[in-house]
Amino acid sequence: MLKVGLVGWRGMVGSVLMDRMRAENDFALIEPVFFTTSNIGGAAPKEAEGQPLKSAKDIAALNLMDVVITCQGGDYTTEIYPLLRDTGWHGYWIDAAKTLRMQDDAVIVLDPVNMPVIQTALAAGIKNYIGGNCTVSCMLIGLGGLFKADLIEWMTCMTYQAASGGGAQHMRELLTQFGTLNAEVKSLLDDPAAAILEIDRKILARQQALTADETQNFGVPLAGNLIPWIDKDMGTGISLEEWKGMAEANKILGRGPQFGIAATPIDSLCVRVGAMRCHSQALTIKLKKDVPLVDIEAILANDNAWARVIPNDREHSIRELTPAAVTGNMHIAVGRLRKLAMGPEYLSAFTVGDQLLWGAAEPLRRMLRILLEK
Ligand code: NAP
Repeated sequence: MLKVGLVGWRGMVGSVLMDRMRAENDFALIEPVFFTTSNIGGAAPKEAEGQPLKSAKDIAALNLMDVVITCQGGDYTTEIYPLLRDTGWHGYWIDAAKTLRMQDDAVIVLDPVNMPVIQTALAAGIKNYIGGNCTVSCMLIGLGGLFKADLIEWMTCMTYQAASGGGAQHMRELLTQFGTLNAEVKSLLDDPAAAILEIDRKILARQQALTADETQNFGVPLAGNLIPWIDKDMGTGISLEEWKGMAEANKILGRGPQFGIAATPIDSLCVRVGAMRCHSQALTIKLKKDVPLVDIEAILANDNAWARVIPNDREHSIRELTPAAVTGNMHIAVGRLRKLAMGPEYLSAFTVGDQLLWGAAEPLRRMLRILLEK
């Protein structure tokens, strides 16, 4: 049995990964070893069969693994990955963090979309398999059919990204802020005669008075607000999250100069909103030719088992095309499909996907399965 080291299993992505691995009975096929950065010697999940948690910085212990799966984050990868490889370790490194994604010796894994890229890399002896940016992966599962049919000339993505994209602490911060705001106006809310402008004024004052501790993770209030910038400032007017949209999507698809195929232009404006889970995206797509809407819907629905086309009407959209409807589900909802006023080659779409499933945990556990079946 392959010895598989699990790092970062109690974080947001790691917890969802554990759930999925249990649901799919993955642990029956491996010998799992659990690592931690904060609780060395503590109790590990039941799959460890009584073995205590090992230090995630114990390079000698990691060196004994055939596969390391980490959801610990980019700082951990930056620190530990080179030290582990320096010992001559030849195991497979499967990672949710962005650190290694764009390296030449790493493949971004999303097997329903890029299985041929993964198979070619395995045959070539590549050992690093990295989960893609959550927004990109969800978008590509939803729109995989249009990419495979080579129908997309260019695309813009306007995103609405959930708090959980930042991890467990970010979700707690959002919920705490919701509670703080609610408490501020609770007595007024209980009084049907209270003036709404008074409630509004008190909420705004409390939002603006949130302390550094109360906004430690997002930096500014997210409850009752939105934040039109995600991840680092590249200094070019583009956020790192927006840059990833084009760079990672094309790498996953095997397009761009390194593959000898022109990259597909994809430009984004990424916004954090107060949803708990699920990243949503409004897409404007320039098609290479006029394709009837009914054919587009069929191409999308038939590409993979997880893209689910939602009829473009009010009832279906408000009930089935929302984070609250999609959270915890494996499908990526694709709706609001219609041709735009600019012409028959311009398509509008809206996608919603649980970014902790297809955008994070699922490609990692599926990569482990691909290794097990190799
Ligand atoms: P996270 O929830 O912050 O977890 C990362 C680590 O933080 C955990 O493994 C845990 O390590 C530690 N931690 C500290 N306080 C915690 C608490 N109260 N609850 C749980 N864990 C706590 O981060 P994440 O969102 O899972 O992200 C992990 C990596 O995946 C990052 O590189 C991220 O960029 C990437 N990613 C995230 C998403 C997403 O939607 N969140 C999507 C795609 C990729 P110890 O157990 O060792 O203390």
